[in-house]
Amino acid sequence: MTRPIRFRIPEKLPPEVLSTFRDLIRKTEETGREHTASLCVDEQGHLFIGEVKEGTEAEGWTDYPPSCRVGVNVGLFHTHPNALLFWSGGDALEKILRNEINPNYRFNCLGSPGQSYILCHVLLKKTDAETARSLSKRYLDEWNEIGIHELENPTYSEVLKDILYRLDTGEIVREHTLEREEAIEQIIRKAHKALILDFLLGSEEFRAYEVAHMSDEEFERWKRREERNIKETIEYVVNKPLKEQLCDMMKEIFGIPNSKCYFIIDSEFDPGEIAKTIIKEIQTLREKLRKERRESLKIPAT
Ligand SMILES: [Zn+2]
Repeated sequence: MTRPIRFRIPEKLPPEVLSTFRDLIRKTEETGREHTASLCVDEQGHLFIGEVKEGTEAEGWTDYPPSCRVGVNVGLFHTHPNALLFWSGGDALEKILRNEINPNYRFNCLGSPGQSYILCHVLLKKTDAETARSLSKRYLDEWNEIGIHELENPTYSEVLKDILYRLDTGEIVREHTLEREEAIEQIIRKAHKALILDFLLGSEEFRAYEVAHMSDEEFERWKRREERNIKETIEYVVNKPLKEQLCDMMKEIFGIPNSKCYFIIDSEFDPGEIAKTIIKEIQTLREKLRKERRESLKIPAT
């Protein structure tokens, strides 16, 4: 059994801790892979970084989570690619469950490229065996039934308290301030845009393949038509369910009401702009594919 330690949530992230966070966010941007660092505390209660690991596109590590060689492990920092600065259902569950084994495990942080904040959370209650058992069961049931884990379970928001730190200075963003309100707005906008791009660019390679054989005139016609289609898809299909899902999560994490979250997204979101970005990505891929084909057939470029 791990000895419980006294540990105060920092008002400002220590410089070495902050620079590791930044470094891992940069590596995530370069590789598209999640990265993880263990958060450790020494005898004096100071926070420092232990082991660091590179994971995959969807997981923070591939074998064992990073550990603290010295000191006491109080949590993990991990990254999400693509500006998605919110906990997955699996993240939240892992944080809650691990606390049953290690009572010091209660301070976890998350960072993501394109976001200017670090999102941390503190576990407010010690996880007992009964909670761990019932949450694990619900998690598995959800996975078996719908194939995803949702963060809708009120248990999460009851036991996880969020904390925001500024990525530039490492300072805490205080509760009930304008700065915090603006930080949450920014996080929501960036995450929403990233979710839409992620969703629509999933079939991007397939589409680029499809259009790679078109002549330039055919492609120009396709582009005009497709831009409208994508814009409509965003407006009528993608925007609504994704927006609702995101706002439900934001309510769980930050306590922001759905109506306000919808307002934030609607006030600045432009489906036309996103459609243009997607077309541009397809165009780049098309050119790459055409070039590869030319090279494989040894046809000189015209
Ligand atoms: Zn995660």
